[in-house]
Amino acid sequence: MLGLGIDQIGVGKARNRFSLRGMAPIVHTYRSGETGLFVNSYLVEGAKGVVAIDAPLLLSDGRAFRARLEALRKPLLGVLVTHPHPDHYNTISELLAGEEVPVIAHSDVDREIRAKDEAKRAQWGPMFGDEWPASVTFPNRTVADEESVALGDLRFTAWDFGPCESESETVWLLDDGAVAFVGDLAFNGTHAYLADGHTGAWLRAIDRAEDALAGVHTFYVGHGAPDGGDVLADQRRYLLMAREAIARVADGRAELSEGQASRVTTLMERYLAGAPLGWLVGAGASAVAAELAREAVAT
Ligand SMILES: [Zn+2]
Repeated sequence: MLGLGIDQIGVGKARNRFSLRGMAPIVHTYRSGETGLFVNSYLVEGAKGVVAIDAPLLLSDGRAFRARLEALRKPLLGVLVTHPHPDHYNTISELLAGEEVPVIAHSDVDREIRAKDEAKRAQWGPMFGDEWPASVTFPNRTVADEESVALGDLRFTAWDFGPCESESETVWLLDDGAVAFVGDLAFNGTHAYLADGHTGAWLRAIDRAEDALAGVHTFYVGHGAPDGGDVLADQRRYLLMAREAIARVADGRAELSEGQASRVTTLMERYLAGAPLGWLVGAGASAVAAELAREAVAT
């Protein structure tokens, strides 16, 4: 994925700073288990240290993520947050283990984490019990859209896509933009969280992303395997299908019963046969029914 090119072995004109030190950054993926929503947290290893992208949902995964970092025997240079859902920031404290490094998010992501963290804890904490951290670390530095940050020999640029799967999604592009950490802008081979009810905005963001991220050759997604390029188109098809299934079942209603929501789940499980996290569909179906009802009033 970031193999040695001619630049990396020091022949020809150096294309990027990594080549001067003879090492391209290496992306290490920590994938949580099913209880942890199969969420991916990433460690990007440069010559001088490591940058984390997100941190897992559950304490045991947060500790394992820290152990993965320690095994690299390089300093943690910073943490970048993709979006304000707990499966992407909940165990930043465990990753830091007392170290003080920049924890960086787009200002909208930072604001949303601070605004909703208590509500998320109240909603999800009891379900996960001891696996929910007692406290969380919020970002200590914010960036604007298209702002770059340099951490050791690694450079990332934040691209703000606004409300999509969450209230605010940031794609972090590494160095020359061939590698992107897209958070939950796209899932890959799993069902999607729909409960924030922004599927219309999400589809428009995918349209923008296909242009803006045209130079990306590896998409590191929040859930599922990294992908070479079809994830955005696949996510569009999934969202269009979900909206169609929900519209059909809702028939104009802004709220679905449990039975109607599970009918939507069945339709989507048929669409994405064998994919995990199907329960996310039922959990988000009513929010999308409300969104579709609002759209119908607006047009
Ligand atoms: Zn997620």
